[in-house]
Amino acid sequence: MSRRRQIYEGKAKILYEGPEPGTLIQYFKDDATAFNAQKRGTIAGKGVLNNRISEHIFTLLGQIGIPTHFIRRLNMREQLIRQVEIIPIEVLVRNVAAGTLATRLGIEEGTQLPRTIIEYTYKDDALGDPMVSEEHIACFGWASQEEMNDIADMAVRVNDFLCGLFAATGIRLVDFKLEFGRIWENDFARTILADEISPDGCRLWDMTTNEKLDKDRFRRDLGGEAEAYQEVARRLGLLPEGEANMVLDMASHRKKRGK
Ligand code: C5P
Repeated sequence: MSRRRQIYEGKAKILYEGPEPGTLIQYFKDDATAFNAQKRGTIAGKGVLNNRISEHIFTLLGQIGIPTHFIRRLNMREQLIRQVEIIPIEVLVRNVAAGTLATRLGIEEGTQLPRTIIEYTYKDDALGDPMVSEEHIACFGWASQEEMNDIADMAVRVNDFLCGLFAATGIRLVDFKLEFGRIWENDFARTILADEISPDGCRLWDMTTNEKLDKDRFRRDLGGEAEAYQEVARRLGLLPEGEANMVLDMASHRKKRGK
């Protein structure tokens, strides 16, 4: 399928050797899995949309000073990234109770949390990515205390930024998952944001209707998953469209105000 050397194949992405040392090519597949890959399927065009959405978000995060692995998008399904040593922790950031938090603690889905919660899971498919505390992370040496401080600081900044970005398009950022990696500069390791940010790893609800615009449509057999991903891309201004559909159209806004 490709002339490049494959480094790793995950559930939704493939990593290939990059053109220069220290780089990789991240290829976005249409494959979708849920519940630790017990449920499998495809969402037509998902890879193209996630590549574009993640490019957009990582570029904006870079502009506010969050270091990321993203270098540039190469084509419809691929982006050039920096090679990192992935920290084996998934960072879950929650603003509204949903998913496993709602189930685990018996909180009604959709309940606004009085403060943002950050949770950690240990990346291990065989164990089903169990939730762990910072004590476990320190005890088993999965990340240093300094790395955990950087990760928590970045997770909060990313959350604040993304809540605003999505709110401006009428979307509530319910929760999302982040992954981080280390890059080595001589003997010094720097922590940077890795993986992707897309409707695969976020819960995104329409602010007025609470309609789900994310992978829960696939997980819960709601249908319309491709349309939901497209809707997110459209609202972020990433799909070619007429001016009438623009999220923020200053010209018509001014006309309405008579200026
Ligand atoms: O399933 P749960 O409620 O714990 O998921 C919280 C958030 O993290 C959701 O937005 C989900 O999409 C994301 N997540 C993920 N990959 C995982 C686990 C959770 O993207 N392995």
